[in-house]
Amino acid sequence: MPDIERIVESQKEFFRSGKTLDVDFRIRMLKRLYEVIDKHEDRINKAMQKDLGKSVYESYMCEVGLSKAEISYLIRHVKSFSKEKRVHTPLSQFLSRSFVLPSPRGTCLILSPWNYPFMLTIEPLADAIAAGNTIILKPSESTPEVSAAMEEMLKEAFDENYVAMVRGDHALATRLLEQKLDFIFFTGSKRVGQMILERAAANLTPCVLELGGKSPCIVEKTADIPLAARRIVFGKYLNCGQTCVAPDYILCDKAIKPALLEALKKEILRQYGEDPLSNPDYGKIINAKHYDRLMAHIQKGKVAFGGKGDREDEKIEPTILDDVTLESSIMGEEIFGPILPILTYENYDEVFDIIDKNPTPLALYIFSCDKKIIRTTLRKVAFGGGCVNDVVIHLANSEMGFGGIGNSGMGAYHGKVGFDTFSHQKSIVDKKRIIDLPMRYQPYKSRLYERLLRFFLK
Ligand code: NAD
Repeated sequence: MPDIERIVESQKEFFRSGKTLDVDFRIRMLKRLYEVIDKHEDRINKAMQKDLGKSVYESYMCEVGLSKAEISYLIRHVKSFSKEKRVHTPLSQFLSRSFVLPSPRGTCLILSPWNYPFMLTIEPLADAIAAGNTIILKPSESTPEVSAAMEEMLKEAFDENYVAMVRGDHALATRLLEQKLDFIFFTGSKRVGQMILERAAANLTPCVLELGGKSPCIVEKTADIPLAARRIVFGKYLNCGQTCVAPDYILCDKAIKPALLEALKKEILRQYGEDPLSNPDYGKIINAKHYDRLMAHIQKGKVAFGGKGDREDEKIEPTILDDVTLESSIMGEEIFGPILPILTYENYDEVFDIIDKNPTPLALYIFSCDKKIIRTTLRKVAFGGGCVNDVVIHLANSEMGFGGIGNSGMGAYHGKVGFDTFSHQKSIVDKKRIIDLPMRYQPYKSRLYERLLRFFLK
């Protein structure tokens, strides 16, 4: 096991040296991160293929490319993000200058999951570097090849007292959580997220939790059905459904279900071919445990399309389950696999009841051409983020924060929001010495001062 105490102490010492306060240093480090990713891209792609069966195309689109885009964005904007921001000063504090100064949090811990093992490690790392922190990363033990590739890459780019990657299972994570850290950024399951929060409480360490959940995909009766099917199939079966923001289940108007079902089948054939299990660009389930869990759901449901699996290769066909109700086993947990259940409603108000019966979702998708319904749904339902007439892509915009609410998480990152998440905003009043209004000082005897006080504070 790595010497955690030594790494934490050396990072704290490096942080105290003040080197990370220099924004030019941060920009140099972001550029270094970008360059080293470029250099190691082949190795990363091969690792992704071994751990998740991810094609080079998908690796770039969803992992390496997105991470590079976030780093480029931060390189362009970090100077302006880290500037102090002048704010209005109330008359009662005349004469002074008030400003907010973004400051790094200190030594941060980033714990990441296996489903997008590169992007979900490197994007928070980039945000943390931009904000001027030192960082310890612990990737998932379920993607050993990608973790090894990232460790080698980061070792080449950074000293351990600045950015350190440690590899291991939950025993190592537990050791890390015993340390007095300044910030914890966790992406993973609700179960582990709850444990992280409990452990962080012992040291009063602030946390961001990026969790999952059941994200509904509404297909309303005015939707463009072929387009909806095309985009849903893309977002659902990408990475074999092992995507935190994948549409978990479809909620469609009963009247359009037959047409939607046909369109979905057509799209699966078009995008994945007649035999998806032998499609080299279609990935695999992470391990046998998850494979068995998913196949059990398929066996209990009514398969409308797909349904076959190959246990040896841990692959499952893009599958649609029909006649699903809230009581079906598949509706009891986040699916996190290539199974798409279809639920129907007759009256649109049922949509709100059904979503309400599940924990607050990380994402919500609505396919509709009815502006009023879209507007009402976006305002009425609580969810982390989402898309209108598309799925998944909202997370690929550094101009917007990405995060959950309620059971799907707390806090957000990406772009400016990510910079702010890894910063503390110091609120400062720079009081001038030339004028000193006397009203606040004792003794409180003057009627005039009291009148002035009431004039200023109202
Ligand atoms: P997980 O919670 O099992 O593991 C996540 C990380 O926590 C790993 O690094 C793991 O080693 C560590 N960990 C595991 N047990 C621990 C313990 N007892 N103490 C401390 N750390 C521990 O999650 P997973 O299975 O890797 O990922 C799947 C989950 O992640 C799904 O629920 C998915 O929705 C969620 N997810 C969320 C997002 C998001 O951005 N919101 C993104 C991807 C995945």
